[in-house]
Amino acid sequence: MRHLLIFAALLPTLLTAQNHQTFKFDGPVILIHGGAGGIERKYYNDEQIAEYDSALQAVLKVGYDMLTYGANGMDVVVECLTMLENDPHFNAGKGAVFNDQGEVELDASVMDGSTKMAGAVAGLKHIMNPAKLARAVMEETSHVLLIGEGAEEFAKTQDHQFVDNEYFLTPKRKDQYERWKQMKKNGTVGVVVLDVQGNLYAGTSTGGMMGKKYGRVGDVPIIGAGTYADNNGAAVSCTGHGEYYIRNNVAFQVNARMQYQGLTLEQSTREVIFGVLNSNAGNGGLIAIDAKGNATWTFNSSGMFRGAAGILDGRKAPRFMTEIFGDPTWPEDCDPKPIE
Ligand code: ASP
Repeated sequence: MRHLLIFAALLPTLLTAQNHQTFKFDGPVILIHGGAGGIERKYYNDEQIAEYDSALQAVLKVGYDMLTYGANGMDVVVECLTMLENDPHFNAGKGAVFNDQGEVELDASVMDGSTKMAGAVAGLKHIMNPAKLARAVMEETSHVLLIGEGAEEFAKTQDHQFVDNEYFLTPKRKDQYERWKQMKKNGTVGVVVLDVQGNLYAGTSTGGMMGKKYGRVGDVPIIGAGTYADNNGAAVSCTGHGEYYIRNNVAFQVNARMQYQGLTLEQSTREVIFGVLNSNAGNGGLIAIDAKGNATWTFNSSGMFRGAAGILDGRKAPRFMTEIFGDPTWPEDCDPKPIE
């Protein structure tokens, strides 16, 4: 009976753990996401789950290997985002969702937490790997954000691969586009890392929201909304309904609460997702990491494709963890409950 009571007391924590998990790592760390949204077990068969899982594992493996060999965190972020962009499972690069004209328009950004330099691109139609171009904007120009044709003009001065817009269109997205009015599909990709030098980096890449208005720019290329990194706070990459992330400056809020209010990463991400975003009816999640190796994934949607790799505190070997679904039991500080 006593054991039963202890188990019952622990149950809420265990059940709610999945929508908000925090870890403490030793050494370099990588966290990735492949989008949040209405991701529920009933929509996926075992084969599809295995496919997503191995896609996430492959990225973690490459990213973590690079980190342990001492790679600079920005190289890791861009390499991993590129892998995710090239994978048609995710809503970034190939496999991105369509705008209301049946075309793909891509947004991406990266940020270096040690220098607070950032680069972003929006509304790209022909660049195979937007994250690489975002990095080039950061490194090769004096600007932060380039859009549309101007961004593609700039890409011509660099070594970027151009493709027809058709390249991004997959049969799955064509189908979804036809059914878009009933569908709400997310699947943005994001990467945050802590490298061996102790620096934080973040990057995010997306096709945006299915059926978005031609010319719409979401949170992903807006520094402070969908992406942010500062060694004194956190590296954050978001996914979800972008307009809410822009209005609430979600990525920066996570950082600001840590830097200016002294909150921990765990407290800050909880407040921002389950408090601020949720009470504004926003839906989605984020991955975040601080310079001490605290890491979290937090979301108020039903699921989020996600993974982490690193050496958990006190262990010897690295762990490669991936998860897809969340838990329908919402944490108590998630009030009002999310809109499905
Ligand atoms: N945040 C992205 C956007 O609004 C979409 C997503 O994360 O799925 O463009």
